[in-house]
Order: sequence, then structure tokens, then C-alpha cells
Amino acid sequence: MTSFLRRTLDTDILILGSGGAGLFAALHAHQAQLRAASPLSITVAVKGLLGKCGCTRMVQGGFNVALAREDSVERHFMDTIEGGKWLPDQDLAWQLVTLAVERIRELENELGCFFDRNPDGTVHQKAFAGQTFDRTVHKGDLTGIEIINRLAEQVWSRKINRLEEHRAVELIKSQDQKSLSGVLFIEMRTGEYVFVRAKAVLLGTGGGPTMYKYHTPSGDKSCDGLAMALRAGLPLRDMEMVQFHPTGLLAGTHTRMTGTVLEEGLRGAGGYLLDGSQERFMQQYDPKAERATRDVVSRSMFTEMRKGRTTPYGGLYISMAHLGPERVRRDFKGMVERCADCGFDLAGGLVEVVPTAHYMMGGVEFGADCSTELPGLFVAGEDAGGVHGANRLGGNGVANSTVFGAVAGDAMARWIEGQGLREPDRAALDAAIEACEKPFRKSAPSTINPIRERLHDVMWEQVGIIRDGAGLAQAQRELAALEAELEACGMADGKRAFNLTWHDWLNLKSLVLVSRTIAAAAIARTDSRGAHYRSDFPHTGPLEQSAFTSIRNGHLAMKSVRFTRVRPGESLLKDAA
Ligand SMILES: Cc1cc2nc3c(=O)[nH]c(=O)nc-3n(C[C@H](O)[C@H](O)[C@H](O)COP(=O)(O)OP(=O)(O)OC[C@H]3O[C@@H](n4cnc5c(N)ncnc54)[C@H](O)[C@@H]3O)c2cc1C
Repeated sequence: MTSFLRRTLDTDILILGSGGAGLFAALHAHQAQLRAASPLSITVAVKGLLGKCGCTRMVQGGFNVALAREDSVERHFMDTIEGGKWLPDQDLAWQLVTLAVERIRELENELGCFFDRNPDGTVHQKAFAGQTFDRTVHKGDLTGIEIINRLAEQVWSRKINRLEEHRAVELIKSQDQKSLSGVLFIEMRTGEYVFVRAKAVLLGTGGGPTMYKYHTPSGDKSCDGLAMALRAGLPLRDMEMVQFHPTGLLAGTHTRMTGTVLEEGLRGAGGYLLDGSQERFMQQYDPKAERATRDVVSRSMFTEMRKGRTTPYGGLYISMAHLGPERVRRDFKGMVERCADCGFDLAGGLVEVVPTAHYMMGGVEFGADCSTELPGLFVAGEDAGGVHGANRLGGNGVANSTVFGAVAGDAMARWIEGQGLREPDRAALDAAIEACEKPFRKSAPSTINPIRERLHDVMWEQVGIIRDGAGLAQAQRELAALEAELEACGMADGKRAFNLTWHDWLNLKSLVLVSRTIAAAAIARTDSRGAHYRSDFPHTGPLEQSAFTSIRNGHLAMKSVRFTRVRPGESLLKDAA
């Protein structure tokens, strides 16, 4: 089977993904090599085009960081822990809030980002829901484009290799099974297989809950990294924790704009959510009303929708007009334009919205240096689990990917010192190629669209915002059936070059595997907290006994959270006593 392999490449550091995590890792590894005895070969391999894909580019709202004199890293930390319902790994959360300060300075002063400023020259920080301080740094409402454009320029200007439109399909272990040897790719332009050996590999493929009917992430994301980690036998934590953003645009089934996000800052600035009769409803659910955390707002909206109080497309409305159309146009230019493209007037009228799957708090278990259990494999960004616990604060996502991407770049450069390249397990390489080739070996071609639609529906209805045991068990059966149907699918078009049906099939394979993991973790968690809500277990269990789900090779364990810095009921803030 290795006869299918067209190319084998060697590199010192291989980075999968070119989001905030991947590009920061590349730049930091490159910087570290200046201290190394000989130059390092660094390769960024990405499913899309470098700088043009992934979700970091789509960041609208901004980046949380404690910069203001009245704010503090302790306050940011407490918001993160309380928002995460005491499930975050506290040491990782501490790293997030402290290193976010370094990272934002680096973005501005070394990498050339311009963020919005106050008249006195200080960096402007806006309000985001669920936080006790306005600490979100931004560039208008198109912050991600600023960050990714500058990062990409910096990568382009250095000697960093690029493999674009290269889809990673399997992590290949070394012959002795003790470490990672490299990664198998499909070069999408030709459909050929490429094996890249590396001393260290970063998994930075950005998760991406695109298995739900309504979702926000970029189309190139299909949980490939998480699926590869599962197949490699690595433990994934907090997989039941899928965050829904309350305000996905709802513009009908004919447009891919449905599901895309209208940023949190709209509610932060004072926007109202209205039901189909144009009445506000959030005060009935939470005293913070529209500024409650995402989980609370999404659940309240879903409840209203289940009661049938909906708009023409079956969702709810967001209304900003009471803040003054001029102000809305000025402060949310990108959002106003996006809504106008779909026929809505955000500044002066009503826009239809629906909760939309946005972010996976769960991911691969990792250490402070981004290492995983598999020597040679590192992880950062949305593929990594444990930083956010049960809920991610808006603005902590891009902070997470950039902070830990940089940590991983530094750590990989250190780790590879004295390491050699490792020979791959040839049988594993053959098996991985054979698994990708499967649909070409079936005689009868199949249509995979119905499988995708069923996946979207089962995840939205039964493994989504409101769950219960019976629904989850039914979802598990349906997901097993979908997996079997996918395995039986045949491909009408035998060509490999840019065969998008083949890639859709591979996407669905990753999504179904990860969906099964989400459903299994959701069944195991018999309490409700953060993004995970069970109508049959509506209360949160004792915080002191907080435990997180950890799943590996289909086996699930509950592991106790270690309160290394603060215990439930305590605070790091002096004025909180
Ligand atoms: C619309 C939207 C708005 C957001 N707004 C905010 C915000 O205001 N503030 C905030 O903090 N967070 C926000 N987020 C979340 C934030 O974007 C993510 O938390 C973060 O940027 C993820 O970074 P990452 O590097 O892990 O992944 P990404 O930036 O998504 O990058 C993943 C990369 O992996 C590549 N890839 C995927 N699969 C493969 C594969 N098989 N092989 C090779 N490469 C692969 C992709 O092509 C991509 O280059 C938003 C997300 C979305 C979708």
C-alpha cells in the first residue's frame, strides 16, 4: 500500500494548521532557532491556504487581556474559572491570563497589529458578556483579520516551509510505538499521499463543531485533529462541553450565511433579544438578561424556540435600534454590512438569529508546555482541552490559541534538541492509506448529503443545547448507524485531484467519530453546568467534587479537578471577601 505514497518529506518541526496557534508556534519556534546550533527546518501544513483559513481569521469581537490599571490578571483568572464552572485546569487558566498580556504586547509591538485606541492613547477594551471588567482588545469588529494578516506576513517573510492544501489524515507512530514519527497527508491538489516525518508535531487544527445544523466555524474545520488524536489513543477531556453562540445569523436554508456569528459585543453594548412577537424575554431567565453568559442565553433562546415563539425562519430577533442607528453603524460596521448582505437592517431594524455551535471547550489533554502523552506530539488552540472548563468566555478563544501556540513553539524547539527523526510504523501507514481509499473500492456510488443532514439534525436535536439521557442514547444509536453507512459509501468519481466529495466523506468520518465522543461524555456527565445542560439532571453537582470527563479508546473516566490555586467559594481577589 505504501506504493500509493508519492512523497516522503523530513522536517524538524511540523505544524498542523495556520490559525493563531499554528502561526504563533511557527514564529516562536523560528525565534528559538536563533539560539540553536544549526538552523531548524520548520514546516506549516494546512488544509486551506495559509492566512486565509481557520477561525482565528474570523474573530470579530476581540482578545481578552488584563491591561487596565483597575483590572488584574487575578480578576481575569476568576472570571475564567467561574465562567468555566470550576472545571478548568487552574494552572492552564493561569497561564492563559498571565501570558495573554505578553502576547498582546508582542502582537502590537513586534508583529505590527493595530488595535483600537482611546483618545488618551491607551488600548481600547470593550465589554464582553460574562466578565466583570471590560477587557476585550479589538480592531473594530474584524480583529481576527488584523491578527492573522500580520502573523501570515511575518511567517511569509521568514524561512518557514509551507504545505498548503495538504490535509493531515493520520498521526503515524514510530516503529516501536513509543513516540510519533510523523503525519500522513493528502495533497488535495493532486490527491496524492505524502508522509512527513518530524521530530516534533503540533496539532493546531482548531477543533470546530461543524457537526451541528447551525454552526459558526470555517468550512475547512471538521475536527480532523481530534479524530486523529482519538485514533492514536490519546485522552480527550471535557468533550461534552460544546459552546453555542447565542446570535447566529438566521437567513434561511439557501445561504451559507445562516449560522455565521453576530458578535457578542452587540449584546455587550446593550442589544436586546426579542421573541417572534418582538417582546424581550431574557429577564425571565437571568438577572443579567442579554449580558448573561453564552450558555444561559443560548439555553433561554432554545427554550423560547421550543415554545414556538419564533420568527419567520424559526428563530428569534436581535434588536439594536434603541442604541441609535448611527452608533450601531459606527461601532459594528462589519456586522451591519453582513446583515445587509442577507437583507436585514441591524442598525435600525430587526435581525433573525438562532444559537449556533461555536466552540469546543473539550480537546486533547495536555501539559503546561503543550506536550501530550505521545512523545513528539504537542497540541495548542482549540484542539487542546482543559483551559476553559465548562464554558469559554468570549475573547478567551484567540487569547488561548495565541498564548499556547507560542508556548508550543518554544517548547518544541527545546524538545527536539538531541532528538533524531524516527522511522514510521509501515503497517500503520499502509492501514491509514487503506482507510482513506475505502470509498474508491466500493462498486456502488452513494450520496453523502443525507448522512450529513442526519448528523446535523441528531446533534442539534439530541446532543445540542438541551439534552437528556433518552435522547443521548438514541443519538448514540443513530451515530453508530451513520458511521456504518459512511464506511459503506462508494465514490462516483474515481479521480483523486481536488475530489471534494472524497474530502466531504473524510470530513464526515472525523465529525461522526468526534460526535460519538461528545455524546458519550454527555451521557456520563449527570449534572448540568456551563454549556452542558441535562433536562433530567438540571442542577449542578457539588463544586468541591468537580470532575471532568476523560475519554480514550471509547472508555470514559471521570477525573477530579485539582484546585491548585483557588477552591470553590474562595477568590483570588482581595475585595471579593
Ligand atoms: C465566527 C467566529 C468568531 C469568533 N470570534 C472570537 C472572538 O471575538 N474572540 C475570541 O477569543 N475567539 C473568537 N472565536 C474563536 C477563535 O476563533 C478560536 O478560538 C481560535 O482562533 C482557534 O484558533 P486555532 O489556531 O486553534 O484554530 P483555527 O484558527 O481555526 O485554525 C485551524 C487551522 O487548522 C487547519 N486544519 C484543519 N484541519 C486540518 C487538517 N486535517 N490538516 C491540516 N490543517 C488542518 C485549518 O485549515 C486552519 O488553518 C471566534 C470563532 C468564530 C468561528
